Formats: sequence, structure tokens, C-alpha cells
Amino acid sequence: MSKHIPRKRFGQHFLCDHDIIAAIVSAIRPQAGDNLVEIGPGLGALTTPLMANLTHFHVVELDRDIIARLQRTYPADKLTIHAGDALAFDFASLGTRLRIVGNLPYNISTPLLFHLAEFAPNILDMHFMLQKEVVERMTAHPNTHDYGRLSVMLQYRFDMESLFDVPPTAFDPPPKVDSAIVRMLPRPPEDMQAINVDTLAHVVSTAFAQRRKTLRNTLAGVLKPDDFVHLDIDPQRRAETVSVADFVRIANHIQPKENK
Ligand code: SAH
Repeated sequence: MSKHIPRKRFGQHFLCDHDIIAAIVSAIRPQAGDNLVEIGPGLGALTTPLMANLTHFHVVELDRDIIARLQRTYPADKLTIHAGDALAFDFASLGTRLRIVGNLPYNISTPLLFHLAEFAPNILDMHFMLQKEVVERMTAHPNTHDYGRLSVMLQYRFDMESLFDVPPTAFDPPPKVDSAIVRMLPRPPEDMQAINVDTLAHVVSTAFAQRRKTLRNTLAGVLKPDDFVHLDIDPQRRAETVSVADFVRIANHIQPKENK
């Protein structure tokens, strides 16, 4: 097969470091019978070793040239190729207990993570290669510079852990940024449940839109002084001090009123 020229617009940085590939596969530990889905398999750096123990495997890939290569490389009864955009893909169509993995295109990582969060009930776990800075924001705690909308909205759905860092030299072509592997496990919904996730998303974006301002200012449109008293939240605080659980309490407090 002729050499594939990496396409920048598809965020193509192919893994070429065998130690890193082995470390990723051992972190995922695929077991026979797992319902594994890879986003953006590319030239198969992860696909081939991940497939070794599996009876069947799903991939979602957008680049037509790469799809044609995958069709030539892997038997159709072992690998199902879903040709299309992962951002629009209905992951629920692949069933439950999904184990989703990928060295994701960094240019679409935030919208893709938000898209995947919608399928949390169908997901067993996820392992992704992402820009290190994005993993730091995903896993950030309150009262830190990195804590923001991405932290709250993803921590609402998932327990997340940064497993290890990956240098640019592990890829061809090398990206300009450092990368990291993150593990995401859906959280039991009983722990805290937003009545309406859209309301939660709205409160969180509004509060963080001006992260230097107090909640009294940023949330003036949804919370009156009495509401702050009822919630026992000091209106002088700023969004970056508010825990995920408190954002859920705020959203659930205003939700019944919005329904009227
Ligand atoms: N997993 C491979 C390739 C990573 S590069 C490796 O580690 O070497 C990112 C891959 O995602 C490429 O194959 C690219 O074509 C694919 N991709 C980019 N945008 C996509 C999208 N919106 N949906 C699905 N795949 C996409």
C-alpha cells in the first residue's frame, strides 16, 4: 500500500512509539467479549494490538482514504467500520457496556467529549489520548486555575484519572503539544442527579463566562438573594470555588421554577 499522507484537518498524528502503544493497550486491558469501539483508528496503531484478544471490534472513522485502507487490512467479520463523523455518531446504536477508546483528533476533543457524555448510561469505560492541557482541565479540582466548565460538566458524568503523559515524539507527525492518557468511568447517577442537564449546563456556562465575577453578578438572572440563603451558598464566591455537587444543587433549585 502507498504511504498515507497525514491530513491536518482531520487531526492526524499517528502513534509510532511501541512502548507507548503497549502501555495504552495494557491500561485498557481488552478482554474477549468486550464491546470495544475505537474512534479514529487511523492506520491501526492501536487497532491491531487492541483486536488481538477480541472476537469483534467497532471503529468510527471519517477519512475515506483511511476507511479504504482499513477495509483492505482487516476482515469484515472481525472489524465493523462505521464511516462518518464521531461527533454525529449514535454510540447507543452499538449497544451497552461500551468500552470506547481513541487517540482523538485534538481539534474536536471538547465537542466530542460533550457528545460522548450523552451516552454515559451505555458506557462501561473510556480511554483517550488527549492534549495534556485538556486532561488537566477535565480532572481539575475547585479553587484551581484549570477548574471550569469542562471539569464540572464531565465530572458530573464521569470519574476521571490521568494515567500517564505522552511526549510529541511518540507521534508521526509530532503534535506541537504534550499529550496524556485519561481514563473516564461513568459515575453512578444516584450520587447526584440534575433534574435537567441543560439547566445545569446553562448555570455552569453562565457562572464561568466571567470567572472573575461573583456569583451574585454572574447568576443574577437565575438566583435572587433569597435563593442564595436557601442554598447556603455565599453570593460573594466565584464560580471556580463551587463544587460539582453545589452546581447540581443550584440547577435543581431553579429547575422547578422554570417548569412553572
Ligand atoms: N488512532 C490512530 C490515529 C490517530 S489520528 C493512531 O493512534 O495512530 C486521529 C484519527 O481520527 C485519524 O484517523 C482521523 O482521520 C480520525 N478523525 C478525525 N476526525 C474525526 C471525526 N470527526 N470522526 C471520526 N474520526 C475522525
